[in-house]
Amino acid sequence: MTARRIFGVETEYGITCAAPPPAAGAAPHPPVSADDAARYLFRKVVQWGRSSNVFLRNGARLYLDVGSHPEYATAECDDVRQLVANDRAGEAILDRMVEEANALLEQEGVAGTIHLFKNNLDSAGNSFGCHENYLVRRRRDFQAMGDALVPFFITRQILTGAGHLRPRAGGGATYAFSQRADQMWDAMSSATTRSRPIINTRDEPHGDADLYRRMHVIVGDSSVAETTTMLKVGMTDLLLGMLEDGVRVRDLALAEPMRAIREISHDTTATLPVELTSGRRMSALAIQEEFLARVTGYLDAEGLTAELTAVQRRVLELWERGLRALREQDPTLVDTELDWAIKGRLIERYRARHTLALDDPRVARLSLAYHDISPTRGLATSLARRGLMARLTTDEEVAAAVETPPATTRARLRGEFVARAQERRRDVTVDWVHLKINDAAQRTVVLKDPFAPVDERVDALMAALQR
Ligand code: ATP
Ligand code: MG
Ligand code: MG
Repeated sequence: MTARRIFGVETEYGITCAAPPPAAGAAPHPPVSADDAARYLFRKVVQWGRSSNVFLRNGARLYLDVGSHPEYATAECDDVRQLVANDRAGEAILDRMVEEANALLEQEGVAGTIHLFKNNLDSAGNSFGCHENYLVRRRRDFQAMGDALVPFFITRQILTGAGHLRPRAGGGATYAFSQRADQMWDAMSSATTRSRPIINTRDEPHGDADLYRRMHVIVGDSSVAETTTMLKVGMTDLLLGMLEDGVRVRDLALAEPMRAIREISHDTTATLPVELTSGRRMSALAIQEEFLARVTGYLDAEGLTAELTAVQRRVLELWERGLRALREQDPTLVDTELDWAIKGRLIERYRARHTLALDDPRVARLSLAYHDISPTRGLATSLARRGLMARLTTDEEVAAAVETPPATTRARLRGEFVARAQERRRDVTVDWVHLKINDAAQRTVVLKDPFAPVDERVDALMAALQR
């Protein structure tokens, strides 16, 4: 069970270009649209990569899709801490692009500052995602695994939701667990944008299709705090290990998953019951307590507890403490580690200091600044510095992940190939499974094993790049 697993996280970012207020008596500055801002952001990338869809020397994919949400997909990682460092590396790379684009705006005399937000909803109500990818061994009962995972993902938000200031129908606002919950329409489906499923069943393993599947999870909120990403991915990894070992979880299926996901997001006590297909009624809190008990029970029964890594122990400990915080209605137990609690405390302190209603625009601005990836304009860096937001990685680990790919997976081959091609100014085409030199010989290597960091065929390809 403590078998290796490949993980990757794709994050779409919100983008705006805020214009400064005009000088007294002057006309307002012409607005810079999100589309235009995204073009400024990617101008340099397009110059060197001749495309707004590129693979980087750290093995990651940087991408500007339609809808102008920049996306960063981490390289394949095989360890949660490595994954968190690579996800943070994406923020660092994008922040550098923001700074360069803002300098460009200034050079061209355009008034405005570009901001990137690691959240899931823009001011017009458009939703964008954070996808988690987990490699699983192919077996016939993928559907059964999905059936167990749906109630898990629907209730996981009480721990890993990013916190959401939600406008109330009759006016005012309430605080909810998740930005994403209101946007989900389907439990499992092969289409992402139209029906927004929780698990995308489109079968695209990015690897040997006889051996592997890629579990493509669409439902999660983007996470700001490293420990929230750690818990989100770490708890899912442990549960997947149990399910892959053949343990079944049939009795927690929800009667109306899409209704439950909304109700659970809106109930920050986490104690209101939802209906199961069995007819039983359970709260999100009780369902998560049950998942945790089964996972720890399984680990104990299989003698695996002693083998857990330090991060896996931290995951189980935070999972338990996060549930206790809800059971005891005491968010201070997790308010430096879980986004909904960190952001909730920030908002409550600010409101108390300035006597503001929850729907005050200043509160909305503070809540948005929590997601701004800039270390100067966003809040996360200063919260971490003041000990109000926990870290898992060090700045050195993140800086290393900006430059170098994970050393233990296929990403290493891709990253080194891209770096060599850039140094030698050679034209190559790369994706998750292919490395190709675009010359007369069109040499291509297909990398079907995402676990393999060494490959003789790639050595030969690298040698060909030298010539
Ligand atoms: P799109 O987002 O364009 O619809 P996609 O879902 O294939 O396509 P990408 O944005 O290209 O997604 O990102 C793929 C993610 O899957 C990356 O984070 C990558 O590290 C990860 N990944 C690659 N191979 C595997 C694998 N075999 N198992 C699990 N994850 C993988
Ligand atoms: Mg993607
Ligand atoms: Mg995807």
